[in-house]
Amino acid sequence: MSELVEIKKCICGHCEKQCGILVHVKGDTIVKTEGNREHPLSKGYQCERQRMAIEWLNHPDQLMYPLKRVGERGEGRWQRVTWDDAMGEIGQKLIKIRERYGAEALLMNEGTTRGNDHWLHHRFRNLFGSPNLIGSGSVCAMNQNAMSFALVGDPVWGYASDLENTNCAILWGSNPPVSWQRWWVEIIKSKQKRAMKLIVIDPRCSKAAERADLWLQLRPATDGALALGMLNVVINEGLYDKEFVKKWTIGFEKLKERVQEYPVEKVAQITRVSPEKIIQAARMFATARPACICYGVATDQIGRNGTVLEHTRVCLRAITGNIDVPGGEPILRPGEKMQNGGVFVTESELALFDKLPPEQRKKQLGYDVKNINRLLSIRSHEITSGPIEKAYGVAAPSSFRFNSPTSMAWPAIIEGKPYPIKALLCYASNMLAWVGPTQKVYEAFKSPNLELFVVTDFFMQPTAMLADYFLPGASWMERFTCINYLDFGSLVIGGDRAIPPRGERKDLYEFFRELGHATGQGEYWPWRTLEEVSEYRLKPMGITFRELIDKMVIFPPSMVPEFKWKKYEEVGFATRSGKVELYSSVLEDLGCDPLPYYEEAGEGPVSTPEVAKEYPLILCAGGNHMPFYHSEWMQSGLGSRKKHPDPVMTIHPETAQNLGINEGDWAYIETRRGRIKQKAVFDPTILSDVILVQAGWWYPEKPSKEPSLGGVWESNANVLVLDDLDACDRLSGGFQIRGLLCKVYKA
Ligand code: SF4
Repeated sequence: MSELVEIKKCICGHCEKQCGILVHVKGDTIVKTEGNREHPLSKGYQCERQRMAIEWLNHPDQLMYPLKRVGERGEGRWQRVTWDDAMGEIGQKLIKIRERYGAEALLMNEGTTRGNDHWLHHRFRNLFGSPNLIGSGSVCAMNQNAMSFALVGDPVWGYASDLENTNCAILWGSNPPVSWQRWWVEIIKSKQKRAMKLIVIDPRCSKAAERADLWLQLRPATDGALALGMLNVVINEGLYDKEFVKKWTIGFEKLKERVQEYPVEKVAQITRVSPEKIIQAARMFATARPACICYGVATDQIGRNGTVLEHTRVCLRAITGNIDVPGGEPILRPGEKMQNGGVFVTESELALFDKLPPEQRKKQLGYDVKNINRLLSIRSHEITSGPIEKAYGVAAPSSFRFNSPTSMAWPAIIEGKPYPIKALLCYASNMLAWVGPTQKVYEAFKSPNLELFVVTDFFMQPTAMLADYFLPGASWMERFTCINYLDFGSLVIGGDRAIPPRGERKDLYEFFRELGHATGQGEYWPWRTLEEVSEYRLKPMGITFRELIDKMVIFPPSMVPEFKWKKYEEVGFATRSGKVELYSSVLEDLGCDPLPYYEEAGEGPVSTPEVAKEYPLILCAGGNHMPFYHSEWMQSGLGSRKKHPDPVMTIHPETAQNLGINEGDWAYIETRRGRIKQKAVFDPTILSDVILVQAGWWYPEKPSKEPSLGGVWESNANVLVLDDLDACDRLSGGFQIRGLLCKVYKA
C-alpha cells in the first residue's frame, strides 16, 4: 500500500521573516512545499528561495555527520566522529580554557537566525560566565533596535510598519521588491488602494525607486545629514504634532536648537540631494500622516554615522505623531497576558541573564570603550532594562540587545588584547564572508592562540573549513518552531517539524543542551527536546504545543480583534521619563551626544581626500540578490546559482567605458585593504562615481581547503571593508561596508 501524503504546518527558517509553509510529506520524504494561505501573518506568501527548499535540502553537499579536524587548520582533512565524542572533547576543552584564562576567554558568534530562538546561546553563555558575543546584528538592525529601546523603550524601527493604513512610507536602506517581497506586495496594494505616497532614498534607482513618488539619490553614507535636513524642515515649518510633542516627548527645544546646524542648503551640499527635494520629502512625510519609515539595514553599514541616523529617524517618527497610531509604527509590548491570564515564557527569562555575574558583565569587549559600541554594550542594556521592567512587569528583552564590536575580537584572539580570547563557538554564521576585512578574520582563525574553534552549520563553508570541529545543524524542515519574535511582542508563533533530522543533524536546542551538559550546566537544561521546552513555555497559557501548531499564531488581547493603538496612554513609554526621549538620557549616561548629529564616514571623498586621489570611486557593498541569503545558497546546481552564476558589480556605463570595461567583463575592485573581481553590469541610474558590489560571495565548487577556502578571496566584498575602530559606528561598533573608496580596472 502506498504511503499517504501528510501536510505539516511549518515555519520557514530560510530567512528571519518566519513565513507559514505547508510541507507535504510522504514517509520521511518532502514532496512539495507551498505557502500556507491560512497563516495569519504570511497569508500564503512564499518567496523564490522557499520554492527551491526541497532542492536545497536534497543538495549532495549537505553535511550529515560531525567532523573533527585532523592535520592543520584549513588543510581540509577531517575525521568523522560521534556527537558524544565531539561534545565530550569540546566540553573538556572549554572547561580547561575557563580555568586557565577565565570564562571571558570564550567568544560566541551568531549569524543569520535559524528560527529566532536566540535564548539558547544566551543561556549557555550566561551560565558559562562569558559576556562575549559578536554577531551580524551590529551591521544589521540590532543597532536600530537598541536606539529604539533607548529613546522609546520599545522597538519602533519600522519592522512592523502598518502599511495597510499608511498614507506615506519611506524606504530607507531597503529594496523590498528584492529583499522582502511579502512586504512589497503590501506596499503596492497600499499605493493602489489609498494612493499611499512612497519616498525612496537610494544612490541608484532601485526597483522600489522606480515606483516611488519621490526618489532621493544621495551620496552613499550621508543619510544622517539628509535625515537632519528633513527634521530641520519639519520643525522650522511647524509641521510636527504639537500636542504629542508637548505631552509625550522630552528635549524638543534642544533638538530644535541642534537641527538649526543642518539647514537644507548645507545638507544638499553634503548629500548631493537638491534643497527642493529635501523640503519636498520632509513635507510629504510630515503632512501625509499617518506615515512610516520602513525597516532597512543598508544604513546600518555606513560605519560611524549608522546608529545616530536612527536617532534622527526615531525623532522624525515621534514628533510627527506616528508612533503607535494606525498607519504608523506600532509598539508591540513584551510579556502581555493572554486571554486566560497566562504569559508565554519569554526568551529573556530563559536566557538567564541574571546568572552572568556583574564582574563578568564589565569584562564584555566594548563594555566601556570610549567612543565605540556604547549602545550595544551590556551597560546600555542594564540602563534601559529598569524602565521596561517597571512598565511591563517582565524581564526586558535581552536576546537582541548586546553585542561586542567584531573589530575588538580579532586583536583579542591574535594578540591577547585587552585579554585573551581562546575559544570561538560559531553557529549559523560564515564569518569569512560577512565580517571584514577578511584578512584580519582569517588571521584570527589561523592563530595558534585560538585553542578551540567550533562551527555548526548545514554546508561546509569557508569559515567551517578552518574549524576544529564542524557539526551538522538541522534545517527548519527538520525541527520545530516555537517563538515570540525575540520578545518584541507577545504574539507566539508555532510550527511543526516536517521530517526528522536527516543523517546525524541536530537542531540548535540539542546543540546547546549537549554543550551545557558537557560543561556542567546539566541542571539548567532539563528539557530533552525543543518540543518539551515549547510545552513548558506554553503551559502558563493553558495550551499545548500541538494546539499552537494548529492555530499557527496566538495573538495577545491587545492585537485582537482590533489592534490596540496608543498603548502608551495607559502606562507611558518604557523610558526613565515615561516619554519619548528626543534628548536621550541613556545616551548621556553612556557618555555620548544625547542629540543626533552628522559626521562624515571614516573613509570617503570628504573625510579622506588624500585616499580619494588613488581610489576615486565610492564603493557600496551589499544589496540583495534573491534567492541568495547573504553568503548562503551559493552551492552550484541550486536554482539560485543558476540564476546568478557570477558575482556582479553595478557601475554607470559611462564610468565603465572610461575605464575600458564592457558590460559582462570581469573587473578588479580594489581598496586599501585588498582587491576582488566581479562581473560588470551597467546601470545608467547609479551615480557616476559610485559602484555597488555584491556581498557574501564564495565558490562552494572550489577546493574546500587552503589556499582557496572555497574561493573566499576571489570575489568576496568583505576583503574590501574597513574596521579601524575610529571608522566603526560609535554606537554599535559596526564596521564600514558602504561609502568606502575604491578603484576599478579591467581584470
Ligand atoms: S525565505 Fe522566503 S518564504 Fe522563507 S521566511 Fe524568508 S521570505 Fe518567507
